[in-house]
Amino acid sequence: MSIEALFVTQVYAARLQHARGPLNLQLLRECRQLRRDDAAGRRWSADNYPGGYTPYDSASRMYERSPTFARLARLIDRHARSFARALALDLDPRKLVMTDCWVNIMPPGVVHGGHLHPLSLLSGTYYVRTPAGSAGLKLEDPRLERFMAAPPRRRDARRALRPWVVIPALAGKVVLFESWLRHEVPPGRGPGERISISFNYAIG
Ligand code: FE
Repeated sequence: MSIEALFVTQVYAARLQHARGPLNLQLLRECRQLRRDDAAGRRWSADNYPGGYTPYDSASRMYERSPTFARLARLIDRHARSFARALALDLDPRKLVMTDCWVNIMPPGVVHGGHLHPLSLLSGTYYVRTPAGSAGLKLEDPRLERFMAAPPRRRDARRALRPWVVIPALAGKVVLFESWLRHEVPPGRGPGERISISFNYAIG
């Protein structure tokens, strides 16, 4: 007999930088500076991202505003291309293009509810600062709504068979997934702010 894994959901993770590396430290400074400077983003966040800060509505293409973010984008581009190859995406003659890149600052207890990234092909997050107790990235089985009559999976089910998987957030790491994959950030329990930079890729 044989059992084959079909229609597999792939998630890509790589170490991009040391958490104390110069690029990461500069990104950290700029994320905090942006929050200080961006009154419009702080107002938008108060309504749409309670307790946290994101310039999603005010500065969502950070690679156009900051050479530091542009450098990060170039590093992530390489990983996005490798992931597209691993997914066997036939992009020829077109290319993957980063279309959005924004900051997320989440103090303890702040959540980012389940969502997809419409109008994009690949999405992901780079972690800038992840103090102890920071929440990971919770990914949901895209077939979940089809499991109407299915019993729950056993608690010891292997990772590939679980309905949710949490990818730990670690400063310096980049995680990529296909944009249709529903995900959320549960509340963190640590004392400090979790800071990340999220992005989307589309076909250019
Ligand atoms: Fe997201």
